[in-house]
Amino acid sequence: MKRGSLFIISAPSGAGKTSLVAKLVASQPEIEVSVSHTTRPMRPGEENGVHYHFVSKAEFEAEINNSNFLEFAEVFGNYYGTSQKVVEQKLAQGIDVILEIDWQGAEQVRRLVPEAISIFIVPPSIDELRSRLTNRGQDADDVIARRLSEAQTEMSHYLEFDYLVVNDDFETALSQLQAIFTANRLTIDKQQSAQQVLMADLLA
Ligand code: GDP
Ligand code: ADP
Ligand code: 5GP
Repeated sequence: MKRGSLFIISAPSGAGKTSLVAKLVASQPEIEVSVSHTTRPMRPGEENGVHYHFVSKAEFEAEINNSNFLEFAEVFGNYYGTSQKVVEQKLAQGIDVILEIDWQGAEQVRRLVPEAISIFIVPPSIDELRSRLTNRGQDADDVIARRLSEAQTEMSHYLEFDYLVVNDDFETALSQLQAIFTANRLTIDKQQSAQQVLMADLLA
């Protein structure tokens, strides 16, 4: 079976990547999102094992020492990391995997998996980013201020990515994101095995 593709999606906090990725995965069931480990506190409505594996700093450091992470980084004062084993198992099963990670993690993954496809999402303005973070209503004021102040650092890395999507109108951004994933599945590399029987028949 053909290996799945690895996708990296980064964005400043509040740009809409989690909402977009949730809709994308609902519309394209052959894609899965990697569930990261994090030391940040759980938000209302979040579920352990679904949105993140919520762990203590000591547990996170034990995972680092056991080399269990494909990548990890400190973001907004908390650790975030991607389980190497889970990602590898899914790719081996032919499943496309999305990593929703920050630019530092993206840099590490690109070095390890040069064929990974990376997508950067930006908001239409800083004012809109501020209002999305505020209206989401899930972070304390000081946390929002910190995320906003680090948004430009995150965005300054956009040229390291393969694709740029502007999340102004949600449905437009979603269809642009869907197009990237659909196109990847239509490459000769993927279609050669997916359409093996048809092509053998057509060429017989
Ligand atoms: P949100 O992006 O505003 O929903 O905030 P989160 O708290 O979910 O994520 C915080 C930051 O951590 C973001 O920049 C994410 O891209 C990043 N992040 C999340 N998971 C991972 C991970 O597994 N590895 C790395 N390197 N970064 C991650
Ligand atoms: P991220 O995961 O990048 O931090 P979220 O997906 O949590 O971002 O989105 C931040 C907030 O902005 C959420 O309340 C979400 O509903 C809202 N949002 C996302 N995309 C749009 C959009 N295109 N227009 C208006 N609001 C949006
Ligand atoms: P939040 O705390 O709002 O869920 O996430 C904040 C940021 O952490 C997001 O921008 C997200 O991309 C990043 N992030 C989440 N999981 C990971 C991860 O596993 N690795 C890295 N490097 N960043 C992550």
